[in-house]
Amino acid sequence: MAHADTATDIHDAKTPVEHLDVLIIGAGLSGIGAACHVKKSFPHRTFAILESRESMGGTWDLFRYPGIRSDSDMYTLGYRFKPWEKDQSIADGADILEYLEETATDHGIDRNIRFRHRVVRAEWSTADSQWRVDAERTDTGEIVRLTTDFLMSCSGYYRYDEGYTPEFPGIDQFEGRVVHPQHWPDDLDYAGKRVVVIGSGATAVTLAPAMSAEAAHVTMLQRSPTYILALPGADKVANGLRRLLPSRLAYALTRLKNATVSTAIYQLCQRYPKFMKGRIRQLQKGLLPEGYDIDTHLTPRYNPWDQRLCLVPDGDLFQSISDGNVSIVTDHIDTFTDTGITLKSGGDLDADIVVTATGLNLLAFGGMTLAVDGRDIDLSETMAYKGMMLSGVPNFAFVVGYTNASWTLKADLVCEYVCRLLAHMDENGYAQCAPERNPSVAEEPFLDFAAGYVLRSVESFPKQGSEAPWRLRMNYFRDLVTLRHGKVADDAMMFSGTRSLTAEPARR
Ligand SMILES: Cc1cc2nc3c(=O)[nH]c(=O)nc-3n(C[C@H](O)[C@H](O)[C@H](O)COP(=O)(O)OP(=O)(O)OC[C@H]3O[C@@H](n4cnc5c(N)ncnc54)[C@H](O)[C@@H]3O)c2cc1C
Repeated sequence: MAHADTATDIHDAKTPVEHLDVLIIGAGLSGIGAACHVKKSFPHRTFAILESRESMGGTWDLFRYPGIRSDSDMYTLGYRFKPWEKDQSIADGADILEYLEETATDHGIDRNIRFRHRVVRAEWSTADSQWRVDAERTDTGEIVRLTTDFLMSCSGYYRYDEGYTPEFPGIDQFEGRVVHPQHWPDDLDYAGKRVVVIGSGATAVTLAPAMSAEAAHVTMLQRSPTYILALPGADKVANGLRRLLPSRLAYALTRLKNATVSTAIYQLCQRYPKFMKGRIRQLQKGLLPEGYDIDTHLTPRYNPWDQRLCLVPDGDLFQSISDGNVSIVTDHIDTFTDTGITLKSGGDLDADIVVTATGLNLLAFGGMTLAVDGRDIDLSETMAYKGMMLSGVPNFAFVVGYTNASWTLKADLVCEYVCRLLAHMDENGYAQCAPERNPSVAEEPFLDFAAGYVLRSVESFPKQGSEAPWRLRMNYFRDLVTLRHGKVADDAMMFSGTRSLTAEPARR
């Protein structure tokens, strides 16, 4: 990478380089959580978070489209160590951002975030038992170099600079405005306007009812349907428990309840797809106008949870359809015209504004290059260990959450595991740990998930393996056993090197 070459040029052996015990990349939900875990377990270790943007929160700060909200409940999207105390279980983006900022301040890790530092390269040296990390200052272009014993990538899973938009024929002719939800313009006035939202994923189903409150009409134009399930925006049990029990206990119980329910729904969908299809259809029918064409607009060809299932709080999308403010059109775009979109079926959709809710561009490890002893790592040749480390890459962990449950359920477990791993290395005086690949374990795609954004780029991601500990189990309760309670010194993990002990026992 060009940045790294520049860095090599400007840093000679005499330039003093700051060293940190742990370095975290990204100040989103995962990075803030990781820093809290590290600080709590090792209060005397030095650490920093390098964040390329000028504010924290990642996804929950970047996305500003109308209605932006979670589609998981906040009792599982929240951290294990910080109760979610608002009444709404499905929360607005602004409330989630506030929760993340509050977590960072409460734990005093906000002071450890270095904004405008985009990590471009990290190179491991076996001889020195440390990483050398180059970050580009996004304000000055300067390259900042640091070294660290342990590197954690909490950089999310998609490109920040550009959302995904397919090539639409004739789009340049369109005289209205085209907007991508990832780059929402502050000045977009859609009051009284005809809006077409292209897409059928979580963003489209959020945007359509939210914009319909002001727009003349919103049409959700989709090539194919998604499973959409209504659920209460507020969790009565959670709010009841909070009134009766101490906050932490109430939160822990609700978290367990919701993790159990979401896992059960996923498992039921996988094992009894026909039954679950029927059940979803029945629930939708009760919320939609008589005779609504559920088969065309809400029944995908695949089975429930073969792709992410969309949740709509209090059935807001179905309500907007019933009120006549939103309509779903299932068709293909033939071409854009100056006034809207002509469909392959021959129909036309007039529009003043088109929102392309067409997804994200996946990006592994924030686009940085990883190298070990002078050799750049080709991620597609690595295998993910327990879904959180890479074969042949020492002292490196990453957070990628679940696709079938809340991200944070996994993020918390990974961070707990990393702290246990660091404690084990301390206790035994090891300087290095790296999972070593077993050639007899077959390779499989990292994400076994048929969503378009996954299929577009999963080839460039690390692989997962056909068996433990290389298998990525999208299952919180199995991970709970492996990551919270399982041995960190297993057959696949190689420990080596010696380090002078700092005599700082981990706080558990
Ligand atoms: C619109 C939307 C809604 C979502 N809703 C849900 C939901 O309801 N439930 C759920 O479980 N998941 C949801 N997700 C997934 C969501 O991304 C995760 O829940 C969670 O926010 C991920 O946190 P993260 O910190 O890992 O990544 P991010 O939020 O993406 O944060 C990554 C951070 O790393 C920084 N970074 C990236 N690369 C570099 C680099 N090279 N150097 C320095 N810094 C870097 C970024 O600037 C960013 O601040 C949603 C995603 C989107 C896009």
